[in-house]
Parts: sequence; structure tokens; C-alpha cells
Amino acid sequence: MRFSKLFAPTLKEDPAEAEIISHKLLVRAGMLRKVASGIYSYLPLGFKVLNKVINIVREEMDKAGAEELLMSALQPAEIWQKSGRWAEYGPEMMRLKDRGNRDFCLGPTHEELITTIVMNEMLSYRQLPVTLYQIQVKFRDEIRPRFGLMRGREFIMKDAYSFDLNEKTLQESYKKMHGAYSRILERCGLEYRAVEAESGLIGGDVSQEFMVLADNGEEAIVYCDKCSYAANREAAKTAKTEGESDDFKLLEEVNTPERKTISEVSEFLRISPKNIVKTLIYQTEYGIKIVLVRGDREVNQEKLNRVIETDKVTLLSNEEFGRYSDLIPGYSGPVGLNNYEIIGDNEILSMRNFVVGANKKNTHFVNVNIERDFKVDKWGDFVFINEGDKCPSCGGILKITRGIEIGHIFQLGDKYSKALNATFLDENGERRFYTIGCYGIGVSRLVQATIEQNHDDKGIIWPIPLAPFKVIVIVLNTKDEEQNTIGENIYNGLLNKDVEVIIDDREESAGKKFADADLIGVPYQIIIGKRTKAGSKVELKTRKDNQKTEIPIEDAVEKVCLLLRAD
Ligand code: ATP
Ligand code: MG
Repeated sequence: MRFSKLFAPTLKEDPAEAEIISHKLLVRAGMLRKVASGIYSYLPLGFKVLNKVINIVREEMDKAGAEELLMSALQPAEIWQKSGRWAEYGPEMMRLKDRGNRDFCLGPTHEELITTIVMNEMLSYRQLPVTLYQIQVKFRDEIRPRFGLMRGREFIMKDAYSFDLNEKTLQESYKKMHGAYSRILERCGLEYRAVEAESGLIGGDVSQEFMVLADNGEEAIVYCDKCSYAANREAAKTAKTEGESDDFKLLEEVNTPERKTISEVSEFLRISPKNIVKTLIYQTEYGIKIVLVRGDREVNQEKLNRVIETDKVTLLSNEEFGRYSDLIPGYSGPVGLNNYEIIGDNEILSMRNFVVGANKKNTHFVNVNIERDFKVDKWGDFVFINEGDKCPSCGGILKITRGIEIGHIFQLGDKYSKALNATFLDENGERRFYTIGCYGIGVSRLVQATIEQNHDDKGIIWPIPLAPFKVIVIVLNTKDEEQNTIGENIYNGLLNKDVEVIIDDREESAGKKFADADLIGVPYQIIIGKRTKAGSKVELKTRKDNQKTEIPIEDAVEKVCLLLRAD
């Protein structure tokens, strides 16, 4: 490829539309252009990288025994109505009508469609398991599309679906995908972690996310510094706390004038927030719920919703408090509140002699104990983990870091096969529901996440397997015939060896050429300048570490090929 012919409009300045470095660099390197919010076009260089990622994903999926197919992006409403997700998906789903006024959507995901395809073929147990995948554009009308390819409204996903006989064989299919995902991220040269996750709207019990570590990541990841425990902060569990052995002390009422918040009470009574139980009052479709967590904890709403079994949950507002004479804002507590269901976070089970509101203005109770002073109707785990907490697996200390979710693998079980009545024939000729798994990778997000992890102040540093070109031959002065000849010879030598190479033959300043080569992130640069005369040396620069070495002109091709083989 010749740079003079390449459609790669590089920019010197950061584009106003981009907030994070990886997005800025994609635009500046002439790889990506915005069409509308969350919608982008890939220019040739960007498309080259995207295809590199696609090839790696495809190779690893094939190796893991999955078969590629391509489903339609446009999907009829009926299959979504059967699963119940036509209503559930809400405004994130892009919906449209055909000329006959029939409802369709642009697929945000394909569980319903793939299940319909497979069930229509009436497979027998002998044909199972089967794992099918596609690499395709997805549509989600995200509430906040942002960070370029990270959260688009149209994006490219690899989605795979496994159909199994039972839970046991599903474990095998899941394991294969887990292995494939790990190899994909390793081949892309990325630092990542597989973490326990929440399944969200897709459903199912077991799921893991593959997180690429990055400071700008949207997700907080909790991991143990001693063992392999790692989880999305949304899903991280609290460690089982040892029951404190203190004796129950006498319940006492204390005066706490104008002390309403945990920090005010803790300061006033000179106790740690860990010795206070925070009482939160929720309005739900099933009435008022009293929720208790340790004073230093924040409620994880998604987890709590699951315990309460509804997502129609809001904290009681100040006006609403007025309607309940027994609920006192800032001074509520579980003692004596017998008219409502009390839901306790598991962690408070082991607390002794703690502080709660006394349901009276300016008053708290101290030395409160569960069972003796009040009962909890329902227990659950619904608080966020903090850095420094104990590891639920080994008791080590938990740390928090940030990551970008690149992949998510789920064991769905029979949720969709039951909803859609998807069955196969077992060895007795009887119909049985499929046990399904689904596995997604954000292919376009992966392109950008790679930059987030691999860049410097000059531009992108592509890991070799994703680089749009492996080598750039830079002829600093194209008016100099000798420089041109040397450059063209090396360029052709590399082409003959099937190296992906580009020659910068533009009539641009040396500064612009250096800057562009660094910006677009080509791993090796061969620089031909004034000092390069026939029979002398060229400069070889490694983008990753900026190392420069001089090598004889006639060795340049061989040397670069050796380096590429070693990488
Ligand atoms: P998120 O929590 O980031 O919204 P999700 O849970 O909705 O992700 P899945 O439905 O599991 O995502 O989709 C599989 C993969 O597709 C994700 O792991 C992510 O890499 C990618 N992905 C999801 N939404 C987007 C988006 N709006 N833009 C780009 N990639 C996306
Ligand atoms: Mg999402």
C-alpha cells in the first residue's frame, strides 16, 4: 500500500466529540468517522484492524468447534413476544414497522431467533451439542451512547449460542467458549481478567465477563490479592462474617439531636459506621419494605430488586414519609416496626450491640441485637463490596480496579427453550427442552479497548496481530531519487515476503510523516533519510519502545522478517 493513495485522513488536533484517549486516537488516526450519536463508519485503516479482530475471533471459535452462520438483523416481533422480551427490552430496542404495519426490531441480540431456527429442525439427541455463532451488526438504542465504539447504538458483536442435552453437557460447551475467549484476548495482546458477573436482562444463573483492564473502563472489578477470586463489583459477594461473641448488652435509648446521617451519628456517639445498621425505607409494588445494611455499605439496587422480586422500587420520598406516622426520616429503625416486611443484608447477621434509629425524632437505640429486639423476615446479599473487604473465597484482602467488558458468557439453562417451547428428541423419542448457553464478544469495542491499553502521547501502539500494517517504510524526501530507490527496493522486498507493509511516498514534511507513522501505530518503521546513501544504513524504529537501530540497507528486509516472526 502507498500512503499517497491511502484514504486515511489523519488529524493533528483532538476531535471535540471524543472524551477518552482511545476514541480520540481512532478519529485522529483516520480510522473512524462519526455518522450520528453512537453510529460510526470505519475508514480503510480502521476496517483493516476490525477485520484482524474478526479473523482471530473466527479462528478461535472454529477451533472450539463452533459453526458460523449469519442470521438476519431484522427480526419479527412475534418471537420476542413469545419470550416476553418485546415488552421487557424497553426503549433500548430499535423498533420499526413494515408496510403491512407488522412490528419488527433491529436485533439487539439473537437468543430468540437462533432458538427458533434450531427448534424448527427437530434435532435428535445424537446431533447435540451444537454451538452456532455469527459476527454481525447489533442495534441498541443505548440511553447514553458514548466513548465511540465502546458504547455504540450500532456495533459489531460475535454472538454464539450452544444447545445442549442437559446442564452437565452445557458445562462442557461453556468451558470451551471460556477457553476460546481467553485465547482471543491473549492473541490480541491484551491484559484481561475473567470475572463473575450478574446476568441482567438476558437471564440465567452462571455468567462470567471478560474484562480488559483499563483506567477508563466503565466497570469496577473486585479481585483478591491472594487467590484467583475476581468479580464484577455488581456481582461481588461479601465474605461470610464470623459471629461476634460479645454478650448482649442492655438496650438503651439515647438522645441524638439533629443527628440523622450515618456519619453524624457515628461522630456524635463516637462509634464506627460498622457498628451502626442503616435503615432504608423503600416504596415497592408490594408495599413498604424496611431494608437493613451495615452503616458503611451502599445498596446494590439490582441485587436488592432480585430479593424483593420487583424492579418497581424507590426510596421513600420526604412527602411520602408524611403519610406514615410510624416512619421518621433520619431516625427510622427496625425495633418495634412490626407492620412492614424487614429485609436484612447477610452481613448484619453477625453484628452485636449495634445502633439503629428509634423511630422517634432525635433518638437512637444503642446495644440493639437481632432476634432479641427485632426479627428479620428475609435475608439476602445486596451491598456493594469496598476495597479492603475480605475475599469471600479465601479471606484475603479485596482490591478494586477498572475494566472494559469485552465479552460475556452465560449459562442460560432452559429459560428460552421453555418460553419458546424449543425441544429435541431424547433417546426414548421424548421431547426435552434444550439447555442453552450464550456467549458474546464486543468485536468493535475490542478494537477500541486495545488502544485504551496500548498507546502513548504520540498515538496508537498496535499489538502486532492487530496492526493494520506491520511495517512502514518512510522515505523522508521523495524528491531525492536515491532515497526513493532505496525505499522502493525495501518496500518491494517486504511485499515479496508477504509482509503487510506501507510506504510513505507522500510529498509531506518529515515531521508530518514521523507523526503519522506514530499516530497510526505501525509496529516497525524503516526510515530512509539524508544519511542513507547506497550501500549505507537505514534506521529501524520499534514503535512500542521507540528504540532506534541502524541496519545495513541490504539486511533491512531480512531483519524485519526475523523480528516479525519472533513476535
Ligand atoms: P454493557 O453492560 O456494557 O451494556 P451488555 O451486558 O449489555 O453490556 P451483552 O448483551 O452481554 O452486553 O453483549 C455482549 C458484548 O457486546 C458485551 O460484552 C460488550 O463487549 C458488547 N456490547 C454490548 N453493548 C455494546 C454497545 N452498546 N456498544 C459496543 N459494544 C457493546
Ligand atoms: Mg447493555
